[in-house]
Amino acid sequence: MTLKKKVRAKFVKHLGKQFREDDTSLRVYSRDMSDLPSLTKIFFKNTPDAIILPKTVDEVQKLYELATENKVAITPRSGGTTGFGGSVTYNKGIILDVKGLESETLIEPIDQSVTVSPSIIFSELQRYLKLNGFSLCSFPSSFYSATVGGWIAHGGYGIGSAKYGGALEQILSLEVVLPTGKLVEYTEREDIELYVGSNGTLGLITKIKLKIKFDIPLKHFACTFDSPQQLVVGLKELSSVDPYAVWFFNPKHVEELNEAYGYTLPDRYLVILTKEISFEEEESEFHTLFNQAIRRAEGEILDKRYTANIFDIRFQTLSILKNYKDFLINEVILPVEKSGKYLQKLISSFNGLLHLEGELIGDSHYALLMYLYFEEEQSQLNKLLHNLKMYKNVVKGIKANGYPYSTGLWYAGYYPAIYGKSQYKKYKDFKKVVDPKNISNPGKVISPRFRIFPLIKLKTAFKIACRFVL
Ligand SMILES: Cc1cc2nc3c(=O)[nH]c(=O)nc-3n(C[C@H](O)[C@H](O)[C@H](O)COP(=O)(O)OP(=O)(O)OC[C@H]3O[C@@H](n4cnc5c(N)ncnc54)[C@H](O)[C@@H]3O)c2cc1C
Repeated sequence: MTLKKKVRAKFVKHLGKQFREDDTSLRVYSRDMSDLPSLTKIFFKNTPDAIILPKTVDEVQKLYELATENKVAITPRSGGTTGFGGSVTYNKGIILDVKGLESETLIEPIDQSVTVSPSIIFSELQRYLKLNGFSLCSFPSSFYSATVGGWIAHGGYGIGSAKYGGALEQILSLEVVLPTGKLVEYTEREDIELYVGSNGTLGLITKIKLKIKFDIPLKHFACTFDSPQQLVVGLKELSSVDPYAVWFFNPKHVEELNEAYGYTLPDRYLVILTKEISFEEEESEFHTLFNQAIRRAEGEILDKRYTANIFDIRFQTLSILKNYKDFLINEVILPVEKSGKYLQKLISSFNGLLHLEGELIGDSHYALLMYLYFEEEQSQLNKLLHNLKMYKNVVKGIKANGYPYSTGLWYAGYYPAIYGKSQYKKYKDFKKVVDPKNISNPGKVISPRFRIFPLIKLKTAFKIACRFVL
């Protein structure tokens, strides 16, 4: 789909000041955090026709009205930090950059909530809340670049999700511009949940009311385990001590942290538990609980000196990537119960080269980031094969009762695996009503037809390709 002259003129007439189509902008917006492998670019038209940065909700409404009238695809984008291709166009069209939206922040101390624009960056919001004695409940580790709207639309989890849940659990209300241009407000969970993880395919989130909490001090505790099996037993035990966050690594990644940040951490599975603690008595009570949990899981407590200030690098772990010529990243959500075997197989299928970093996202599941680092620049073919191998392992996670982290472009078609079949039916019924022309972020959530061979879906094409990698 390429913008016809007459259609382009309509967008320029109404949104001219916010309209961009210079080569540099088009190139910047043709990718998100991870670039699409060159070999796959024949399947996608990831360079948009134009980018529009509306300033007001009225302008967003006008943009969607024009898009629906003229059947132009609109792909929302905020920080562009996701890496699942959700903010990249599948088949050209216009990128709606939310970061242009004027931002207003209103704290309501009595009901412990804050109302924000979707374009606000987490670190800015947290700074403002802390100045007022409050804090976000849960937030992603892409804290310095990700926006609140993008996190919700991608269906994220993060630091604090062990206690306060993921994006869905933070929302009290959402204001949305539907693909028809109509402005609506949702306060019921059954409506709100349609917008969490649907990647802007149901319209643009324009205002959010989030739960907040008092700014309680955080204390950190560390322990280690011998094997992946022991690690998951440990995670189960630790989930019972009401942690704020539980963050962990495999020995390969611990080695990397030692090298990159000068730590002397033991060569084992390392877990950092963070707890909200206001009083000294609470801390000594918690010590007892923590010790008992680690003893039951046959782990070892690690002296605090080994992990001094380690929480500060929560927001920097990707800076390690600059030490390598090439890298690949993927992510899967797994159940705590019985995922030890999956972890063991995953590690051995990459000959021990895989770096793992995980985060507990509730009592029962954890998110697992997998990284492959390369000392040498890889050929496009090699990168594609490694990418497919990671992809295959994420999909294998479904058999272990896990699921891909998010749909975006790469995992379009896995929405039912993530949110369940009945939620998928609700999503499809709603999509038909609010976006009958499928202009809002097409190619995401529901797997699109494979562009060069439209008899099959993209999801099927990936599955077939995965069969050819070991
Ligand atoms: C270093 C690093 C650490 C990360 N850590 C985490 C983590 O802890 N937890 C986590 O969940 N993710 C994490 N991520 C992934 C990602 O950064 C986050 O999910 C982030 O919240 C996405 O926000 P964004 O503003 O970049 O969204 P984008 O990438 O711009 O968009 C994400 C999706 O939402 C859609 N969208 C964007 N804005 C809107 C809107 N206003 N209305 C409707 N749809 C919209 C887009 O079309 C796209 O499909 C991390 C990424 C990096 C690089």
